[in-house]
Amino acid sequence: MSQIENNKGSIQVQNLNVYYGERHALKNLNIEIPKHKLTAIIGPSGCGKTTFLKCFNRLIETNENVNITGQFLVDGQNIFDPKVEITSIRKKMGLLSQRPYPLPMSIYDNITYGPRIHGERNKTKMAETVEYYLKQASLWEEVKDRLHSPASALSIGQQQRLCLARGLAVAPEFILGDEPTSALDPISSKHIEQKFIELKNQYTIVVVTHSLRQARRIADYIVFMYLGEIIEHGPAKELLSNPQHQLTKDYVTGEMS
Ligand code: ADP
Ligand code: MG
Repeated sequence: MSQIENNKGSIQVQNLNVYYGERHALKNLNIEIPKHKLTAIIGPSGCGKTTFLKCFNRLIETNENVNITGQFLVDGQNIFDPKVEITSIRKKMGLLSQRPYPLPMSIYDNITYGPRIHGERNKTKMAETVEYYLKQASLWEEVKDRLHSPASALSIGQQQRLCLARGLAVAPEFILGDEPTSALDPISSKHIEQKFIELKNQYTIVVVTHSLRQARRIADYIVFMYLGEIIEHGPAKELLSNPQHQLTKDYVTGEMS
């Protein structure tokens, strides 16, 4: 069954609270993330964007002293239920961080790493996988002659595309990005943005961005956060052109620093 036909890729967040010790970082978030669309999370620095994104793949639990309440339903299953295995959640979520983290191995091995963990051994199939996903991430032409060189020799922009290819190679349902282009040159940023736009028909994509211009270019749906709360969310065009809340207005017109 293809990604489009089945019913996967849905997220509902219900009464989600996150505390770092005493600090109440996410305050009763309630939202349904639109499936097979690109959602941008925007808001001033420190408002909780990264904290929220880290809930999607339970990376949040790597912090000590973190306390989470509420429900986070992925494909209908509450991922914070103690019975849920963390690896089954992580497999569904491809993540691009602010800076790329290629594995300390060759370009080729970076792509085959995930499939090998999941039991793939067929060499011909793996070579096809490498080519397919490097093409998906618009990197193939630049690296096809040096697939066995270390990934660390690539530019930052190429590394980020490699990380995208690596993430896609384990067939996730969701792609998450935490300011994934903020460390990249303009050309590499364009490549990543373009890829997101192409991939959103197949994946549910959630991207944190501090760039309103980027949000305008790529988002179908926007979530505006402020001091740990979701203030407003809606279709991108509507929210940007006709915000309902004063705080959103101030942010999108640049009145809020
Ligand atoms: P954003 O990504 O929007 O800049 P964050 O999610 O990083 O915001 O941070 C939200 C709030 O939580 C901030 O006040 C920040 O200082 C606090 N915070 C983030 N990470 C931690 C942590 N590991 N321990 C304690 N407080 C944290
Ligand atoms: Mg952040």
